[in-house]
Amino acid sequence: MMRTMRTVVTAERLFDGSQILDEPLVEIEDGRVLSVSTREAGDVPAGVQVLDFPGATLAPAFFDVHIHGSAGHDVMEATPEALETMGRFLASRGTGSFLATTVTAPLDATLRAVSGLAKLMAKPASEGMARAVGIHLEGPFLSHAKRGVQPAEHLLAPDITIFDRLYEAAEGRVRLMTLAPELPGAAELAAHATRRGVRVSVGHSDAKAAEARATIAAGAVSATHTFNAMRALDHREPGILGVVLTESGLYSELICDGIHSAPEITRLWWRAKGPERAILVTDAMSAAGMPDGEYQLGGFQVQVANGRATARGVLAGSVLTLDRALANLVAFAGARVDEALRALTINPAAMVGDTEAGRVVAGAPANLVAIGADGTLVASVIGGKSEVQVSG
Ligand SMILES: [Zn+2]
Repeated sequence: MMRTMRTVVTAERLFDGSQILDEPLVEIEDGRVLSVSTREAGDVPAGVQVLDFPGATLAPAFFDVHIHGSAGHDVMEATPEALETMGRFLASRGTGSFLATTVTAPLDATLRAVSGLAKLMAKPASEGMARAVGIHLEGPFLSHAKRGVQPAEHLLAPDITIFDRLYEAAEGRVRLMTLAPELPGAAELAAHATRRGVRVSVGHSDAKAAEARATIAAGAVSATHTFNAMRALDHREPGILGVVLTESGLYSELICDGIHSAPEITRLWWRAKGPERAILVTDAMSAAGMPDGEYQLGGFQVQVANGRATARGVLAGSVLTLDRALANLVAFAGARVDEALRALTINPAAMVGDTEAGRVVAGAPANLVAIGADGTLVASVIGGKSEVQVSG
């Protein structure tokens, strides 16, 4: 086997997924982390490539558990070209891994897509690109009242047999499923999916508080794009949102672009969920990283103008990238960079039970980011390859 050059990455500090280390030295080789130490413990070894990011914080590359596409492609294309084009673009924005997220479509189209994705995921990782590590099923078990742009004609009532068909077609690679708690059979399906190792996220839902609590009691661990496609907060019937914001063990996704939720609401969410349970996602569609124009999300047409993706006036995913989401969280909520970083590294990894993403430890994939004091991306090092950002 050909050996690549050993590289040492260093910066002012490192958030390794659990703690902060000052003056870190991260040694990488063949796309893996070889060792993590500090400059006190040893000088930079001679004869290695050194990537030094003075003043920056090193952190694990981001893990996006809710993303439909980017760079002109949608994950439901399920082709090597789609995943590779997305993977290269996402790597340049600091994302190391993601859950390929489906939209509601005819059942046979979804079965074909997840089967294609599973076969692509079984192949070894390519260097220098973000990797799909699982599938997020956003639908078909969603509420008609809060479907957003998910097509009404393909929504289904919770059904264990249909879930099993999707799970088998995906060769067990479904890691997360969004489910509306108020639908008949939702709690039973949540319990069944959880037994099969699939995490359940409540969302696209008009649920009352008791319905949301029942599905959480049955196993749901997270909430899908909190505030969006959810019954609004009411002080007498707090509904799903009242439960999501106050249930301390529940993880909670946010699309932190200042469009899907106002900055004040981002601050409220950060106070409610905090560095232990907040998860930043993009919900990005194929237009992320592309100019304004007409794009596809699943099977429908989306217009993109000035950072907004809409279909018939309704928000249809985003063009957000996780590096922007991080900088926005720091700016909108005054979050500390090292705490905000948890929301796109260790929290999503812990929520889905991924043991490789969201950490910088010996043996893990060498996927790192360097982040400036204001939360902006300075550089990403994915699979050992460095891409330095030239603009914020
Ligand atoms: Zn989505």
